[in-house]
Amino acid sequence: MTTNLSRRRFIQQMMIGGLTTPVLLNMLSSNLLAQTGESKQTIIWVLGQSSGIHRSGIWSYPGFHTFMEKHFTLIESDSPNIQDITIESNESGGGHILILDGYFSQDLDDPGNMLLKDLIVVSRAAILMGNEASYSHSAPDGFLDLEKELLYLVETPYFKLPGNPVPIRHLVGALNHLKLYGPPELDEYRRPTMFYSQVICERCQYRGDFEQGNFVRYHGQKEGCLYLLGCKGPVTKNSCALEKWNGTSSWCVSVGSPCTGCSEPDYPNNSGLGLFGQLNADNAPINSFFVRNASTIAQGAFGVTLAGVAIHAFSGRRSRSLSKDSVFGFEEETDE
Ligand code: SF4
Ligand code: SF4
Repeated sequence: MTTNLSRRRFIQQMMIGGLTTPVLLNMLSSNLLAQTGESKQTIIWVLGQSSGIHRSGIWSYPGFHTFMEKHFTLIESDSPNIQDITIESNESGGGHILILDGYFSQDLDDPGNMLLKDLIVVSRAAILMGNEASYSHSAPDGFLDLEKELLYLVETPYFKLPGNPVPIRHLVGALNHLKLYGPPELDEYRRPTMFYSQVICERCQYRGDFEQGNFVRYHGQKEGCLYLLGCKGPVTKNSCALEKWNGTSSWCVSVGSPCTGCSEPDYPNNSGLGLFGQLNADNAPINSFFVRNASTIAQGAFGVTLAGVAIHAFSGRRSRSLSKDSVFGFEEETDE
């Protein structure tokens, strides 16, 4: 049974998608029920300035609300109301799990802020949910850099679940790991490696197209790799291609939308490329196999296309019909 998995096996299964959200929910449920005499684990989910995008996606997952009510004491609070939270001292597992979601005011006179630090100190672990909390070093003026101004000052373990929005599998997987094995292994940005160690391309359905130089040239063209449309899959670490969007059959790339790098610290700027600027070996901030090779392959494919156009133009022996691609200058001409 999954509940007897070693830590190593658990992580392996997370990385190959063997542990889906329903499996992870069952697993968490079994582990919580197996601990006799234990009171519910408390999760305190504090919302700062946030659109609610992370919470709404997760809470709309079928059955999640009931599951949480059954196994957790959930305290949700907007940051100004933190003073209303009372913590049970005899909780299982060594204290509550704290989820920070959104930006938090830098106003040190705000009583909510004073208590935020207290909450962090007595937490078993803190989870920074979504990009606002995870990458708050780039928060707008007036908002806390959570790490520099709070988390670096205390010993509470913490980690980040970035993404826009955060997939439910990341939250439930992280809760399982916390319950079974303690805090997860993290990468240089404090993201759990079980979710954020591989770039999107590695598990993308268009990886084969990428390696064969089969690139789509305009939005809406089917099928092929989206690299030329500015896909940030070569430099974005996330597991979207595994369980798709919250366990459905779809995700960004599968509907023809290039990955915009939403789980990376520099999103949406992406080193000045924005959402759809094309990566290449010069402008990509990291040494990526996929960027190095995509640049070469794409240049090759583009060169072949231009060569084909030139040959047809000089031969003048056949009439031509231009596809709609021609307005972009990438068409492969068809003979009539
Ligand atoms: S560049 Fe984008 S579409 Fe192409 S293989 Fe990588 S993730 Fe998939
Ligand atoms: S594919 Fe890219 S943009 Fe889409 S959710 Fe995953 S990391 Fe974010």
